[in-house]
Amino acid sequence: MESLRFNALKSLQSHPTEVPVAASKKVTAIFGENVFTLDVARHYLADEAYKSLIASIESGKKIDRSMGNQIANGMRAWAESRGVTHFTHWFQPLTGTTAEKHDSFFTIKGDGTPIEQFEGDSLIQQEPDASSFPSGGLRATFEARGYTAWDPSSPAFIMEIGHGKTLCIPTIYVSYTGESLDTKTPLLRSLDALNRAAVSVCHYFDRNVGHVKATLGWEQEYFVIDAGMANSRPDLVLTGRTVFGHSSAKGQQLEDHYFGSIPERVYAFMRDFEEESYRLGIPLRTRHNEVAPCQYECAPIFEEANLAVDHNILLMDIMSRVAKRHNLKVLLHEKPFAGINGSGKHNNWSMSTDTGVNLLAPGKTPKTNLMFLTFFVNVIKAVHDYADLLRASIASAGNDHRLGANEAPPAIISIFIGKFLTEVLNEVKERVGDNFTEQDEILLKLDIHKTIPELLLDNTDRNRTSPFAFTGNKFEFRAVGSSANCANAMTVLNSIMAATLNAFKQDVDSLIEKGEKKEVAIMETIKKYIVASEKVLFEGDGYSDEWHAEAERRGLPNVPTTPLALDAFLTQVSKDMFEKLEVYNHAELEARHEIMLEEYIKRVQIESRIMGELCTSHILPSAIKYQNILIENIKGLKDLGMIGNAFANQVQILEKISKHIAEVSDGVEKMIEARKACNAMTNTRARAIAYCNTVKEAYFDKIRYHVDKLELLVDDQCWLLPKYREMLFIR
Ligand code: ADP
Ligand code: MG
Repeated sequence: MESLRFNALKSLQSHPTEVPVAASKKVTAIFGENVFTLDVARHYLADEAYKSLIASIESGKKIDRSMGNQIANGMRAWAESRGVTHFTHWFQPLTGTTAEKHDSFFTIKGDGTPIEQFEGDSLIQQEPDASSFPSGGLRATFEARGYTAWDPSSPAFIMEIGHGKTLCIPTIYVSYTGESLDTKTPLLRSLDALNRAAVSVCHYFDRNVGHVKATLGWEQEYFVIDAGMANSRPDLVLTGRTVFGHSSAKGQQLEDHYFGSIPERVYAFMRDFEEESYRLGIPLRTRHNEVAPCQYECAPIFEEANLAVDHNILLMDIMSRVAKRHNLKVLLHEKPFAGINGSGKHNNWSMSTDTGVNLLAPGKTPKTNLMFLTFFVNVIKAVHDYADLLRASIASAGNDHRLGANEAPPAIISIFIGKFLTEVLNEVKERVGDNFTEQDEILLKLDIHKTIPELLLDNTDRNRTSPFAFTGNKFEFRAVGSSANCANAMTVLNSIMAATLNAFKQDVDSLIEKGEKKEVAIMETIKKYIVASEKVLFEGDGYSDEWHAEAERRGLPNVPTTPLALDAFLTQVSKDMFEKLEVYNHAELEARHEIMLEEYIKRVQIESRIMGELCTSHILPSAIKYQNILIENIKGLKDLGMIGNAFANQVQILEKISKHIAEVSDGVEKMIEARKACNAMTNTRARAIAYCNTVKEAYFDKIRYHVDKLELLVDDQCWLLPKYREMLFIR
């Protein structure tokens, strides 16, 4: 039988050039047509029900039973008009993906009449049989069941899969005692905490601010390769990354892919998934090639953070499904291929008020600039004080392969702010002193105002090596992994910002109580914060070795591996901070910590298993086959009476192959033993650390080295796994 590899290659030669292409329509003609927007709600709901929906979106007001029934009815009427038969609560359990359990509108009444109905109760709350979702022991400790509850702030939408259409209701997922079992609940709590903290600080400058929301615009990087190729690689199928594969003679060194023309097959795929995204109200804006071959990026217009998170996770799902139609495979893993760039998901984050002000955009007047400076410096202080937690928020087995590797920020959290803002901070530092008066404050504010407008003009002042960079009117958190749910990073960022703003408010208020003028008190506190946190600022090359040394000198945390990075969730500082803000209680934090460690262990375990399996069933048989050919050849030459030089080269190759075979085989055996030792450990943290050190670090690269050498030595016809050059360059 021919190998999957050769079949995949063959079918690529005869690939139909015609691929399904999305119809060319104006985006506005289809945008949001599968979403129960407020506009749609206005048409389908009576005034009273509509008002109650608005109140619950705007101020979290509870929807009562009769209103719930009316809203559910309206939703059903709309959904049925679009051919929907089922509904589901759509939630984000701690598996990192989304979950749904479909129920039909169809039911049979007591008297036997079949009808379609959707009751308020089913809209507002559901009880999925969810005993298999990770709970980190929470359900055991508290209550066996969990339930999902409607999140009205993220609109319901219709998911089309093939000919089936389902009404999806975004929900949170919590235990009966209220402990969160998902990513959305803590995110919503953190948004609430940030809102309260930011509004009270805004009131120093503008009493009209009633609400502050966090905004998020993510940039999603991904790889796309031929599905036949992907399916011929068991490692890609099971882990999302290639555990073996010699680098291709040509990689990304010519930089001919970045921003180049998009290959036609991929272009058709992009248009197709974009169209589905538009229907679902995901405001995609940008698409382009990324640096590595077969790597691409898309980005939407930013949105309120909770909605943006939902849209990102929805998009990842859509992309994977649509790719199938095009016989392509989307790889969202952080490092699908060694030696070329990995994929991230830059999280562009800011805060904006209901008065229409972006709190991280430099202001138009000296006064609004002081507000900007306040929020700007508070971000720096938050990132400085909780750098370890921010690092932990992006920790995963996949991201460990990316951070610090080709073109990815290191695991050291630092902030880039650019030349002008560095000058502004220095100015504040120098001029705010012991006898700082109101007059000094006014002058300083005016001087800052003169510097800041230049900022807006300066778009070139960018540093792409920083994990956390200010980009003119927002911060860009670049260390987030491409496969991650942004909720984790956003929950931590919102929380540390809320905690810092709360402390800032206290500090300023206590100065005011001592008789200081408000604006002087603010400037003095800003100065104090700059001094306390400036060591987290770094303008240089974050990829360089010098920075690692410098960061160590500065005492900045640098934890390269997930099991240890996750410790940051359980420090007393983190626990107190989260509990005070009511984002996570201690039990929830401990449960999450446990779940993240478990997930890490499982991922490394699966990778290790597939490595072993590929070695014994793919790599070694191919190598031995070729070894035999060489042996036959040498024997034959000897039989003919040839001596010495006649087969010296064959012997040399044979020796090399034999050595690599022995190393691979030996490495796999030892790795299996190491795994057994890990599996016997009962403490989860210790097991995760052991998996990291004694399995992954000790064997992955070592085994790979010999496998990749074999790939170069063994007859191409014998090799079963598609090679890097085939996956990355044949389209
Ligand atoms: P780039 O950073 O590549 O120059 P842009 O500045 O246009 O690109 O923005 C990148 C992303 O940042 C986009 O998703 C954009 O919507 C988002 N973004 C822009 N402004 C904000 C903001 N105030 N809050 C959050 N995200 C924002
Ligand atoms: Mg950007």
